[in-house]
Amino acid sequence: MDFETLGLAEHIIKAVQDLGYKEPTPIQKKAIPALLENRRDMVGLAQTGTGKTAAYGLPLLQLIDFSKSRVQGLILCPTRELCVQISKDLTRYSRYVKHAKIVAVYGGAGMEPQIRQIKKGAQIIAATPGRLLDLTKRGIVNLHEIDYVVLDEADEMLTMGFQEDLDEILAQTPSAKRSWLFSATMTEPVARISRNYLKDPVEITVGRKNSGASNISHFKYVVLEKNRYPALKRIIDYHPDIFSLVFCRTRKETQAVAEKLIRDGYNAESLHGDLSQTQRDYVMGRFRERSLQILVATDVAARGLDVDDISHVIHYNLPDEPGAYTHRSGRTARAGKSGASIVLMNTRENRKLAHVEQVTGVRFQHEKVPSGRAVCEKQLYTMVEKLVDVDVNHEEIDAFLPPVYETLAGLTKEQLIQHFVSIEFNRFLDYYKDSGDINARTPQKRGSTGKRNPTEKRTLTYSPKELTQTQKLFLNMGQLDNIQKGAITRLVCDKSGIRSNQIGKIEVMREFSFLEVDVDWADRVMKSMKGASLDGKRVSMGYAEKKSEKLSSSDKKRGTGKKWTDKSGKTSKRERRSPLSRKRTSARANARWGS
Ligand code: AMP
Repeated sequence: MDFETLGLAEHIIKAVQDLGYKEPTPIQKKAIPALLENRRDMVGLAQTGTGKTAAYGLPLLQLIDFSKSRVQGLILCPTRELCVQISKDLTRYSRYVKHAKIVAVYGGAGMEPQIRQIKKGAQIIAATPGRLLDLTKRGIVNLHEIDYVVLDEADEMLTMGFQEDLDEILAQTPSAKRSWLFSATMTEPVARISRNYLKDPVEITVGRKNSGASNISHFKYVVLEKNRYPALKRIIDYHPDIFSLVFCRTRKETQAVAEKLIRDGYNAESLHGDLSQTQRDYVMGRFRERSLQILVATDVAARGLDVDDISHVIHYNLPDEPGAYTHRSGRTARAGKSGASIVLMNTRENRKLAHVEQVTGVRFQHEKVPSGRAVCEKQLYTMVEKLVDVDVNHEEIDAFLPPVYETLAGLTKEQLIQHFVSIEFNRFLDYYKDSGDINARTPQKRGSTGKRNPTEKRTLTYSPKELTQTQKLFLNMGQLDNIQKGAITRLVCDKSGIRSNQIGKIEVMREFSFLEVDVDWADRVMKSMKGASLDGKRVSMGYAEKKSEKLSSSDKKRGTGKKWTDKSGKTSKRERRSPLSRKRTSARANARWGS
């Protein structure tokens, strides 16, 4: 289905196509035709980032009579940022509409300029409830003549204490108007607003009620309380191109976490209510233009923050109110993209997490905080990929190269690679080499003796998570070959006869992939690949790391490898300062990163 089939006027379709929208999002497909019929009120259950502004905005632009210069459409929303965003979006959608005037009115800013704009003949106002009431009391906006009222992020407005203001506003609007209510969650107060003010509304839901976007993956990492911050750092280090919003519960915590990250050399800032509006605008502006990589924020301060492409939402602490989880995680995976929502929790927070699961319908996947070795590997391979992809500006650098060639002439190709890689990579190796496993130990299931069942090895029915000793293998195919994890699993299982639960983590890199298999089966898997091919390409497989030796029982007690021996959850002092420090500080100087 494309925009043409929804009943929208040509000039509106042209405006959205100018913006690069190729096809309507699910909420737009459902809401636009229903709203254009203009027969009933509507309740839309949709998360922010799903394209709901256009879902109500485009029909609104089509239904309003722009030849008249009086306020006909009113959009109420919880924050100044959202107000500004909505009016910007609607202005862009109405670029081919003559005389269209859309104004944003919100508190914390001068009232006079807003009044002047309204008096110029605004037909649509996007407003926060408090400021709108002020304007009605001054006789600037007449609510009795409104034709359309949109309540955007109704649940947020109610959580922020706008209930009375909303009641007062809606009571002044005519009964003949149309009301469209949008909310991410259907809480009882939202249902009450719907019951009291909407007439026989059509209900449109995108995804499951009260749940967030389906393209978000939800993970939990369980650590001891003292390791919460080191775990955050490892997760950030494990994702070299992360663009993340980190949520904390209080202003104090927000400030403290941001300060630690900045001190440790990360490109981070805090966003909370103790900052002035100018400071907040500045920080949000930097995050929006991506000159900031990590934004640490409170729930309230991040409301209305409208930034696409956030790769990871990290919950440094779970919110007190479970419904807030949906709002937080909805900051990622916007406009059809995918994203991750990561919860850091200690061993006593299971009940709190279960409550979030119950209210939101989200199911969390347990992930392990990456080991120091895994972080190093990820950093190294990302660096190598960047090395391959970098554009060489011959015009600029060729003149500098002859003496460089001369100096490096004595090194073989292999030595040259080793030296280049070591410049960046030695710091990571050095920083993480004594780092411990900071995952909290999960309690043994009742009834389990902890001893291995002698038949277990033969039947090998354990799941990947229980693979205690794995061997990492290399495969000569990656993203460039369009290979998927499932295809690798099928290939390995078909050829070697092992079961999919004997395969551990699979990582598909740009030109190659890694997979972990049970150490006892690694040789067999390797041998089975002789002569194998996938999609017409000859498969080659090898050990990605030194062949694992089976561990003695004393080794098992100590850990799984010499260099990477775990130190029973202790965080080494070196953990406090990241090896990324230098790199990130220079990134700050350069303002833009990752591009
Ligand atoms: P919203 O949920 O309205 O805040 O929209 C989230 C983001 O999706 C905004 O950046 C919109 O510009 C973008 N967007 C909305 N509709 C579409 C569409 N049909 N195709 C592509 N992007 C869209």
